[in-house]
Amino acid sequence: MLKFYNTLTRKKEAFKPMKKGKVNMFVCGPTLHDYPHLGNGRTFVSFDVIARYLKWKRYKLFYLQNLTDIDDKIINKARENQVEWKEIKEKYEKIYLQDMKKLNITSVKKYARATDYIKEIISQVKRLIKKKYVYKISDGWYFDLSKDKDYGKLSGRTELKSGDSVSRIDENKEKKNKGDFCVWKFSKLGEPMWKSDIGDGRPGWHIEDTAITEKEFGERYDIHGGGIDLMFPHHEAEISQMESLSGKKPFVRYWLHTGFLNINEEKMSKSLGNFITIKDVHEEAMIVRYFLISNHYRNTINFSNQKMEDARNSYERLKNIVSELKDDKKINKKYLQEFETAMDNDINTPEALQVLWKLLRDGNEEGKFITVKKMDEVFGLNLLKKEKNTIPKEVKKLAKERGNARKNKNWKKADEMREKINKLGYIIEDKERGYVLRKK
Ligand code: AMP
Repeated sequence: MLKFYNTLTRKKEAFKPMKKGKVNMFVCGPTLHDYPHLGNGRTFVSFDVIARYLKWKRYKLFYLQNLTDIDDKIINKARENQVEWKEIKEKYEKIYLQDMKKLNITSVKKYARATDYIKEIISQVKRLIKKKYVYKISDGWYFDLSKDKDYGKLSGRTELKSGDSVSRIDENKEKKNKGDFCVWKFSKLGEPMWKSDIGDGRPGWHIEDTAITEKEFGERYDIHGGGIDLMFPHHEAEISQMESLSGKKPFVRYWLHTGFLNINEEKMSKSLGNFITIKDVHEEAMIVRYFLISNHYRNTINFSNQKMEDARNSYERLKNIVSELKDDKKINKKYLQEFETAMDNDINTPEALQVLWKLLRDGNEEGKFITVKKMDEVFGLNLLKKEKNTIPKEVKKLAKERGNARKNKNWKKADEMREKINKLGYIIEDKERGYVLRKK
């Protein structure tokens, strides 16, 4: 039986969707103002695995993700670069989708741009006005938190803490309560805006998600996901908006949050400037994916070059073993059952990967091929895909020897190895995280 750790109840719970056999899942997507980094990638890979597993369990899944394509960050970036805001969001949307493809994220059924839902956003604001949950001040409409006695029920708090994502609770001295957040921002000179009888303007950040999900799923749905940094205030704000509008609780049944990806003990983030972009690792995307899912989605990951190298070795070994398996059409039920048990337990991918390794190490060859195939439907590691430009074993061996020589500061030997690799028609490039091999 599939169980999820639900942030809302702080318990592992058996998963029961609202409609038998059908699941609606929404995950907070990116703000389209910069290159996505490995921290973002961690969250999206985790939910891709969760989505793949739900499908594997034969649920009919609608996985929806928003794209924040109107926001202060986008407007500011456009100003810095002296271009139109649309140019920025279009550029980074392309980059984002390309990154997702590289990471083999295939389960999202619909990417919903906030600007395609302005009508729905305005409709939500209007209904909130009518119900007196929001009030108007000089720069926009704000949600009145004193009207929501439940505020804070997801995170267990009502105040910001370090580690929360940029709060995007707009500040204005006229606000009634400290945490009140803007649902509709009045237009300012030179900023994009939409005409409306609630005042020309643009959406606040939190309302885009509830407007999108209300349109696509209705007032309530099964799973909401995102990074743990979004739990407060973003997800609390979503709950306030939607439960106030519909009067129905809970707005979302299961809240799932991914842990941080840290680098040097700090959260990888754009604002700290300590990030590695996904674009930087396009050529090693499957190794990154292996590295990410070898950790449980709720645990904090500390990224390091050494761990990437370990992941590279493991992944390459896996591919080598799998490439020699014979397609025998049988299933190894014992290991597939173990795999399912691990995944049922709140998506325990590290344990599920151990089951895969156990299967491959087993002396009984029967059923390995198809069982690996079944497991990889969920892992998404392209384990059975024949690589077009596979690097010959000999070249890989030389690269490894060169790596060891460099570690031992034996530069002469390292140079010789580079020469040999070159002669075999390959180029080795040193990156911060190790090396990349490429055909000349
Ligand atoms: P953003 O574009 O910053 O709004 O983030 C997009 C998604 O990535 C959100 O779900 C964030 O919670 C998640 N995210 C951002 N930084 C990290 C990190 N260092 N580790 C894990 N998830 C992250």
